[in-house]
Amino acid sequence: MTTTDTSPAPLYARAAYRGIELYAPDRRPASIDLSDNTNRWGVPPGALRELRDAGVALASRYPAVYSTPLKRTLADYAGVHPSMIVTGCGSDDVLDSAIRAFAEPGDRVVMSEPSFPMIPLFAAMNGLEYSGIPLSSSYDIDVESLVAGEPRITYLCSPNNPTGTTVARAAIKAVLAGARGIVIIDEAYVEFSDSTALDLVSAYDNLLIVRTMSKAFGLAGLRVGYAIGAPALVADIEKSRGPYKVSGLAERAAITALTEDLDWVREHIGLTIANRQRLVAALRARGLDVTPSLSNFVFAPVSRAPAVARRMREGAHGVAVRAFEGLRPVSAALQASGGCALRISVGPWPEIESALAAFDEAMAVCE
Ligand SMILES: *Cc1c(COP(=O)(O)O)cnc(C)c1O
Repeated sequence: MTTTDTSPAPLYARAAYRGIELYAPDRRPASIDLSDNTNRWGVPPGALRELRDAGVALASRYPAVYSTPLKRTLADYAGVHPSMIVTGCGSDDVLDSAIRAFAEPGDRVVMSEPSFPMIPLFAAMNGLEYSGIPLSSSYDIDVESLVAGEPRITYLCSPNNPTGTTVARAAIKAVLAGARGIVIIDEAYVEFSDSTALDLVSAYDNLLIVRTMSKAFGLAGLRVGYAIGAPALVADIEKSRGPYKVSGLAERAAITALTEDLDWVREHIGLTIANRQRLVAALRARGLDVTPSLSNFVFAPVSRAPAVARRMREGAHGVAVRAFEGLRPVSAALQASGGCALRISVGPWPEIESALAAFDEAMAVCE
């Protein structure tokens, strides 16, 4: 990722914004883009039909103020009451709104590292302090350090981006038992895993499960995210987020995906999991220390990953993957790679074959 500082120090913005750089991932076009974990099979068929047929009619009207029809549909899908759902313009919006709703400026947010880099950014955007707590050598969370000092907000990501590992249920319960503030569990990739903390929301009034339509449901461009929690909790997020944040078209497509397209979505989750296992095996056969993934991407510590990724994109195969450098070297594999890693999204097998060919070519050049 490259970051761009676009302007001289802001004179008018709040002081906390001085350290914030605009999010600038490498988004140059590539023939095959396996860099952002979106659905490589595209938009589900029912949602696609609605986008084509309903688009114009919905464009001139305001959407539902607080997405009530979508909340009902999501509630059915998740098996909870609609009063336990809050939506947003992508789950990023929900996370940002939650962080703002439950912490005063100066309060502290904690997250394990490496994990989702948007969280320290949202903390800064809302004037909060941020602490990163290293994951263990097997990418398990350090419960004691997370709960120490009673942070206002504890963020867990399961499956975790970028390691692909899940947080053990006992560890989640230990965090909930020790937490004084809000515990957010980001389940953006839950559809590709075998565990959820959803059943715990009825027992813990400080637990928020955040999910998205951007990954398994193939609607990243429409920006639909949601959270599930106690009614009082989600009502406060709704205040902090404000009205009209999910567009009418996004709402229509999301409702259709959740009702008509579930078979399609499940079929492609199955394909993703099968191809993920094949990709892990193929990378291990190349000598890489790859952690088992419970997500729709594979995390592979590789030395000089940015150079490797650049070569994969610019070489004959034109494959974009996500490169990391400067990650906390918590595991033996990350120590060996100097904190560098590739994250490869899983799509149709021919795309994975191209990624492997691009990787082989890049390694031959980079070594
Ligand atoms: C992709 C991703 C999201 C989803 O973001 P949207 O704003 O819903 O597109 C949230 N959390 C994590 C960890 C992710 O990787």
